[in-house]
Amino acid sequence: MADAVEQLAAVRTKIAAAERQAGREPGSVTLVAVTKTFGAPDINPVLLAGQRVFGENRVQEAQGKWPALKVEFPDVELHLIGPLQSNKAKEAVALFDVIETVDREKIAAALAAEIRKQAKAPRLFVQVNTGSEPQKAGIEPREAVAFVGRCRNVHGLAVEGLMCIPPLDENPGPHFALLEKLAREAGVKKLSMGMSGDYELAIAFGATSVRVGSAIFGSR
Ligand SMILES: *Cc1c(COP(=O)(O)O)cnc(C)c1O
Repeated sequence: MADAVEQLAAVRTKIAAAERQAGREPGSVTLVAVTKTFGAPDINPVLLAGQRVFGENRVQEAQGKWPALKVEFPDVELHLIGPLQSNKAKEAVALFDVIETVDREKIAAALAAEIRKQAKAPRLFVQVNTGSEPQKAGIEPREAVAFVGRCRNVHGLAVEGLMCIPPLDENPGPHFALLEKLAREAGVKKLSMGMSGDYELAIAFGATSVRVGSAIFGSR
């Protein structure tokens, strides 16, 4: 477990170096530590080391570990980074501080209804399928700007950024560049992009948050 704490420190150092190299303000990139498949015994040391922003990709898995951890560490900020089904919108709004995977009308409507009902508004990102991969979640790039507009104007949702997961077998650079361009066109400021293998590159392309799992916690 000392391992994860050491690796967390190493990732933080690399993020700081990438910020410097890209001429970005120190501390401008948020590290989202991705804890999927890991339990409280693995997560606790990282919490004790001061990490507060975490990502999970399944609502149900997150419900099994985070409510208890949030009692102990109330300032945790939990991000949903995996696909959301509309029948899980209630649980997602209740548990998550940020939902990064808004990608279709039905989800936008379900989230808007829950946000009204619970009087609790997680911050929202729209996921873009930058590689147009059929098996992958996310809105098509050519529809992304209009969808952000509909989230605002039709559903009354404040979208603060865009998120992407580039295809595994491609150079991620062009995907990061595309996401940055779409965010400018849509008038949103935040970019969630970059994982263990490419977070430094993502920072060079303007990422405001990076989602790093295995480089901290080890392989899953
Ligand atoms: C698992 C996951 C990550 C973290 O991946 P690593 O390669 O382990 O850093 C980032 N983003 C999403 C959406 C994920 O599902």
